[in-house]
Amino acid sequence: MTVKLETLLDRSEKNMGSGIHPVVKESALEMVKLAYQEGIFVQISAGYRSIEEQAKLYGQGRLGYIYDGKNYSDLSKPRVTNAMPGQSYHNYGLAIDYFIVSDDGKNAIWTIDAKWKRVADIGKSLGFAWGGDWSSFKDYPHLDMTGGLTYSQLKAGTRLIVKNTPAMDTGTQTIKSIQRTLNNRYNAKIDVDGYYGPNTKKALIKGF
Ligand SMILES: [Zn+2]
Repeated sequence: MTVKLETLLDRSEKNMGSGIHPVVKESALEMVKLAYQEGIFVQISAGYRSIEEQAKLYGQGRLGYIYDGKNYSDLSKPRVTNAMPGQSYHNYGLAIDYFIVSDDGKNAIWTIDAKWKRVADIGKSLGFAWGGDWSSFKDYPHLDMTGGLTYSQLKAGTRLIVKNTPAMDTGTQTIKSIQRTLNNRYNAKIDVDGYYGPNTKKALIKGF
């Protein structure tokens, strides 16, 4: 039996975690839907990752890795990332990873083929940047929506991104990218001014 779209959406939503940015989440689910319409079954495997989870991941395969006074070294597992805590867009809820699932929905397929690339293209059409396009280290499952912000800007503006508090300089670009998304996708007709005002807030709540 062919896997149901609802199943893929449910699993994807769960895997993205509660700290995922609302625009990223909706765009990811839209990507799963659009791919499904083309007969491509895709699932989101990861989204938001806390700083502690990142430390755990970074500690895999690394001897004596200490973060914030705690030992996260785990040599029983292979090295999986070069991103230290705070140096992954996943830590800010702005990134997702995906994989293709078998027609029955039971197996993950990690082959980077035409289907895989088609999903990346759908993601890009929704505003994501794809890790497969990176020149130095290619991260094929990875998609992110960063609004051009650096990690240090994000660190300074983490609260803004997570809780949508009023705009600060560091978050202006993120707010602008949210406003653009709301205008493009929901025809919200709000000013792209980088200020998280009542109109943007209303559009965001209505849009989702
Ligand atoms: Zn990723």
